[in-house]
Parts: sequence; structure tokens; C-alpha cells
Amino acid sequence: MVHIAIVGAGVAGLAAAQVLKRRGVACTVYEKSRGVGGRAATRTVAGVTFDHGAQYVKAPTADLERLFLETHAIDIERPVWVFNAAGTIREGDPNQNADPKWAWEAGITALSKAMAQGLDIRFEVQIDHLELLSGQGGYRLLDAAGNNMGHADAVLLTPPGPQTAAIVAASTLLERFQVPLLTELQKVTYRRILAVSLLYAQRPTLPWYALVNIDRRHPISWVACEHDKPGHVPPTMRC
Ligand SMILES: Cc1cc2nc3c(=O)[nH]c(=O)nc-3n(C[C@H](O)[C@H](O)[C@H](O)COP(=O)(O)OP(=O)(O)OC[C@H]3O[C@@H](n4cnc5c(N)ncnc54)[C@H](O)[C@@H]3O)c2cc1C
Repeated sequence: MVHIAIVGAGVAGLAAAQVLKRRGVACTVYEKSRGVGGRAATRTVAGVTFDHGAQYVKAPTADLERLFLETHAIDIERPVWVFNAAGTIREGDPNQNADPKWAWEAGITALSKAMAQGLDIRFEVQIDHLELLSGQGGYRLLDAAGNNMGHADAVLLTPPGPQTAAIVAASTLLERFQVPLLTELQKVTYRRILAVSLLYAQRPTLPWYALVNIDRRHPISWVACEHDKPGHVPPTMRC
């Protein structure tokens, strides 16, 4: 039986693992942190739940919408407005705002936790590199100390591009796969983002749930109000 290793228990790794499981393919997910979700992350501070990575998700397919409804997702009803480099704020795109913006009372990690159900996930395992096994075939997965963390016929890497590139670069793979893979991965660039959570005693009086910088020339790209997600803020702080 084919066995697949998936590195990363963010939404990409979890979705792939669920699809493979549904098709009867055995897989093991390796995750370096203690929980699932990756950049779709939630933190609770002073009784307030902050989604400090992904804020909400859209459901472009019926399958996704079904998953969101089964996991008791809620629509953030207030709209997203826009602002420019000068700080001028105006109403956002009515078509985009007409689509539901799905969030979860317990935070966006509720989605990843639901997607993780029934999967074989090894937490606190950071895969550093892979070793192609010439005799038996497949790959060995190793940590930075060279410890053998597992074996699989195929490996799916889902960390962000630069981290995936580092794993591929440190691995022993067939040159005809490794070189083009690295060439593509090295084209992927990321901008560093700081997520700042501010605690207000009450919801500020604002007509929008969030603001997005549309010309990408303002140092702030996004501002959002967690008060608008049911369950994120205690009732005493709601209005
Ligand atoms: C601030 C911010 C706001 C965003 N807002 C939105 C939004 O509103 N709506 C939206 O749809 N998207 C949003 N996004 C994008 C969205 O969060 C990501 O596209 C999505 O979460 C990426 O999922 P992923 O599984 O591809 O990667 P990740 O979430 O990065 O998952 C990769 C996983 O791999 C693990 N990992 C990494 N290296 C290793 C290793 N060597 N060994 C083992 N495990 C490893 C990581 O710990 C992580 O859990 C936002 C992102 C950010 C940062």
C-alpha cells in the first residue's frame, strides 16, 4: 500500500491529507508546532479571541460551503471597506461584500481542527531534509539532528515557499527533480507582516468590519474588528 508523508498541518496539508484518506491512501502529517492551522491562527488574550493570521475565508465551491456550514461557520455581516495611501476611507466593492465572509466563534483554527479529524498527525516534528532511498524506494524524513522521523513512498511539502526551498536544498534527491524544483521555489518571495492585536473596552463606532489598503502603498495593509465575529469578545465589551 502506498504511504504518503505530508509536511505541514496548515489548511493545505490537512486538505490534501483528507482527500488522500477519502481515496484510501495512507498518509502521515508532520507538523513542527503543537497544533494545526499554520497561518490560519487564533489566539485568546484576556478572554478575547483574535484571529491573527487569516481573518475569514470565502467558499468558492459548494464542497467548501458545506464544510463551513457543517463546522458551524458564521458570516461576518458588516462589510469590508477600503483605504488608500493617503488614508482616505470609502465603501468597498458591493459584489465582494455580498459574498459571505466565514469565521468561527472559537476562531479560525476551528476549521483546521475539524479538518484534522481522523488524520495521523505527528506534532512537534520539524522535517529538515529528505533522503531518497535507492534500494527500497521512497524517502526517509529527517530532522535537523539527522534523526529518522519516518519513511514514505512520496512526500508533499506544504510549508511556505522559502521554507520548502530550504528542505529541498538540504535533501538528497534526483538532480533532474531537485534543480528545477529549486529554480521554481526560489522565484517565490514573501513580505514580512506584523500582526498587532489591540484590546478595546468596547467596539468602536464604525460602519465597517474591516478596512483593506487597495493601492498597497500604505504601511498598514489591513485593519479588522474582532467584535464583529460572534463569540470573540465578551458581551460586556460588545457595544
Ligand atoms: C496576517 C495574514 C492574514 C491573512 N488573511 C487571510 C484571509 O483573511 N483570508 C484568507 O483566505 N487567507 C488569508 N491569509 C492567508 C492564509 O492564512 C494562508 O494562505 C493559509 O493559511 C496558508 O496555508 P498553508 O497550509 O498553505 O500554509 P501554512 O499555514 O503556512 O502551513 C504550513 C504548516 O507547515 C508547518 N511547517 C513549516 N515548516 C515545517 C517543517 N520543516 N516541518 C514540519 N512542519 C513545518 C508550519 O508550522 C505550518 O503549520 C492571511 C495570511 C496572513 C499571514
